[in-house]
Amino acid sequence: MMILDIPSVSVLLVEDSPGDARLVLEMLREAGSNAFVVCHAPSLREARECLKSRPYDVMLVDLTLPDSSGLDTVTQLVEVQPNAPVVVMTGMQDEALALRIVQEGAQDYLVKGQIDSTLLVRTLRHAIERNNLLVALAQAKYQQEELATHDSLTGLPNRLLFQGRLSHAIDLARRHEKQLAVMFIDLDHFKHINDSLGHNMGDLLLKTFADRLKSCLRQSDTAARFGGDEFICVLGDLQERSIAGDVAQKILNTCSQPIMLGEKQRSVTPSLGISLYPQDGGDSSTLIKHADSAMYTAKRFGRGNYQFFNAELHAKDLKRLSLEADLQVAVKQQQLAVYYQPIIGKNNRPVAVEALVRWQHPTLGLLAPADFIAIAETTGMIKDIDEWVLRTACHQVKSWHDAGLPPLRVAVNMSAQEFEHDSNLVELVSNVLNESGLQPCYLELEISETASMFDPEITKITLQKLRLLGVHLAIDDFGTGYSSLSYLQQFKVDTLKIDRAFVCDVISNPESATITRTIVALAKALNLSTVAEGVETEAQAKFLKDLQCDYLQGYHYSRPVAAAQLEKMVA
Ligand code: C2E
Ligand code: MG
Ligand code: MG
Repeated sequence: MMILDIPSVSVLLVEDSPGDARLVLEMLREAGSNAFVVCHAPSLREARECLKSRPYDVMLVDLTLPDSSGLDTVTQLVEVQPNAPVVVMTGMQDEALALRIVQEGAQDYLVKGQIDSTLLVRTLRHAIERNNLLVALAQAKYQQEELATHDSLTGLPNRLLFQGRLSHAIDLARRHEKQLAVMFIDLDHFKHINDSLGHNMGDLLLKTFADRLKSCLRQSDTAARFGGDEFICVLGDLQERSIAGDVAQKILNTCSQPIMLGEKQRSVTPSLGISLYPQDGGDSSTLIKHADSAMYTAKRFGRGNYQFFNAELHAKDLKRLSLEADLQVAVKQQQLAVYYQPIIGKNNRPVAVEALVRWQHPTLGLLAPADFIAIAETTGMIKDIDEWVLRTACHQVKSWHDAGLPPLRVAVNMSAQEFEHDSNLVELVSNVLNESGLQPCYLELEISETASMFDPEITKITLQKLRLLGVHLAIDDFGTGYSSLSYLQQFKVDTLKIDRAFVCDVISNPESATITRTIVALAKALNLSTVAEGVETEAQAKFLKDLQCDYLQGYHYSRPVAAAQLEKMVA
């Protein structure tokens, strides 16, 4: 036989009739001498006193007491010990009332005169079990709600809860005609900490940051984790804009304090962006978006600072972002075009053309490289563009050769990124020459001096291989970049292109004239040819010819034009 050790149940018996109380006590004793420990209170007042001194597993309550009756009794008892289950006892005529009280939250009821020991014991135990279940259920529900609305790492409200709080704060601000601030915060270089010290340290940093952030805010403000290393706050009831700045500065000071991450002490700064209601937006999503935009401005201004939203900068960012998205499809959807600008030789006739990319944008019209090359470079799309221009230009020039036009050389611009370590420029050029059938000596690649900045050794090797293919090499915009002269020593090229900046005032500015003269002399001494870019007047052309500059290029001869137009010009 197995003996089950059932802990005794503590019962608060609230009953004014001594006879009924004795009956109940006897019935409970029948269940076993230690099964129930009963405390008897003959009035509501005494029952409340008992409850205050210790908790009970269950209350057994008569509905008619000298100082209280009905639902009111139960309510006042539960007020003292909210989670204890209640079983009410009533006379036969009061069964309807008992039922109503059960609907209001009591666990069960018993009708006096119909109670025996078994029923009483079962009812009390059942009431306790049922109540335990309800409490567990309520706890689970609470935890689930916490999980759905709070970030489990930092305990801060999450994005969902924040949005609700912000909308509420905006409603209040609108009603009371007050300002509020939304602050978007991002940790600087968080990814680096996470990668170098591990995720545990990353988590510790986020938790510490969250605590510090909270300590900078008033009780009524909300700080939330927006995701990753992004946090967001709403400061309500703002007297003036400068207060948001003060709070931001306080956050910067507090949160940038050094923190021990394992054995290492680190200082991690945040970047903050602030948008204000009503001037920067009237709804939560606009305010968040604009605070985010201001945060990016803070990053651009060197991180570790705060910025207010600036509509003008934001408009520029948006334009840039939308251009970036458009550019993604421009190559595939054949929106790019190559224009050709003649390069004039000794006999005043074109000996070469420079291929210059244009973008026929579906809504903005024809865009020049200045509008999109920088975007293409930061997003890495420049490589696709360069490849497409190279291929298009080589095929075009080869078809001119085949059609019997004077044999022009073509100069194609190559971004400095083509000289990064993982580039396959040599292979690309070789393939394009093969597939187009253009002889290598008719292709010239223009590279800028910044190409040397990535890795001079790789650039040097790449240039050597390109020369072995038989293509010509030119340094574009010569004289405006870095370390021009050491460049010439290291990288064997054929041509220097004198930058337009010098050519444009070669007549009026003696310094430009001197620099131009020096470049031409230097090239001659090194056995390189020279091209002067941006020749716009006859006077400039004459000056350059007198200097023995080999080739001239500029609006004086022709602007860059579409292939068909160039064909007519040359024919
Ligand atoms: P760049 O290679 O120095 O090209 C010469 C630029 O000067 C061209 O501008 C040309 O239109 C302009 N130009 C020529 N003659 C004159 C003149 O007499 N007066 C004035 N004011 N300008 C003149 P564009 O076509 O706007 O190209 C600008 C720059 O964009 C190019 O400078 C080149 O660095 C870059 N680029 C153009 N196409 C490509 C390309 O396919 N790939 C790469 N990576 N860059 C390109
Ligand atoms: Mg060029
Ligand atoms: Mg140039």
